[in-house]
Amino acid sequence: MDALQDNDEMQHGQTVSCIGLGAMGWGIASNLASKQAGESVVSQVFVWNRTKSKSEQHAATFGTKCVETLAEAARADVLVTCLPTSTEVAAIANELGPNLRKGMLWIDCTSGDPVTTQKIANFLFNLGVDMVDCPVSGGPDGAMSGNLTAMVGGASFSRAEPFISCFAKKMVVHCGSIGAGDAVKAANNCLNVSHLVLGAEALLALAKFGVRPDIALEAINASSGRSLQTEVRLPTEVLSRKFHYGFKMGLMLKDVNTAIQGLGMQDDGVSLIPRVKEILVMSTDKHGFDADYTNVVKTLEDRAGLNLVG
Ligand code: NDP
Repeated sequence: MDALQDNDEMQHGQTVSCIGLGAMGWGIASNLASKQAGESVVSQVFVWNRTKSKSEQHAATFGTKCVETLAEAARADVLVTCLPTSTEVAAIANELGPNLRKGMLWIDCTSGDPVTTQKIANFLFNLGVDMVDCPVSGGPDGAMSGNLTAMVGGASFSRAEPFISCFAKKMVVHCGSIGAGDAVKAANNCLNVSHLVLGAEALLALAKFGVRPDIALEAINASSGRSLQTEVRLPTEVLSRKFHYGFKMGLMLKDVNTAIQGLGMQDDGVSLIPRVKEILVMSTDKHGFDADYTNVVKTLEDRAGLNLVG
């Protein structure tokens, strides 16, 4: 009898398999496994990661169980994926296909493409599997503390909510039908990086005028131009020169592309978001897909011929 069968016999809670233990999936899986999740919701968490050493390390750290194969993971009551894009989610859905347990719930925490998500959900529905898209916001720190916001799409929201609440204690919002969560997340990330770019442009202009960025932020953050980027990201990641928030630039570019293409945003030469995308493309070309997205500010600094600090 294997570990999953053992747990099928548990009287309380349901088994959850987490696939993808990256910057976000790592913390999401640990919160599902925490005692606070409550055994009435989750009886056991199984983990699978492409790089196996990570799932072994997760099991040793959080008391989750590392499964050897994707097929084993597919036998849990609930599957949680947190992968780079919908392409990897679709590949795993295709690979698992008939191995998926009928009646299973699939919670996809990837920031996905809404249209691809709808196609995956349809494919899964025909196999007897319900899917919700559940992209999250809050970064790796929020994932570790379980303090994420979740943007959920799909008719199985009520069924999914008790599991999502284990890692999204800040807020769980039902955005609408399948794909709606992905759509809102793409728009949210456009705002995130646009606010960062605008904040950095303003600080660079002020620096040229002779105003120190930290002094400028002190005033702006008590005024109407403030945002999360001026209050937190610019001081913590940029002025500190850490550039280490934990979100890859290539993934941010993916989200902006999702918004422009997936949501049909127009590039009429005036709209701001396509301009922000151009800056992200330049930054990704220069710093690489894996660079932290806050490095986008370095592109603006290079163009201004000025560093915000010194
Ligand atoms: P990471 O790059 O840190 O992790 C990606 C995970 O996916 C890893 O576990 C990786 O495995 C796995 N993976 C990659 N390719 C494949 C594949 N072909 N098959 C199977 N597994 C694969 O990404 P994040 O955790 O940062 O992001 C995950 C999702 O969450 C993305 O959609 C992102 O946009 C979103 N997100 C990220 C936030 C952040 O601040 N980081 C915030 C909110 C949302 P391996 O370990 O082997 O590389």
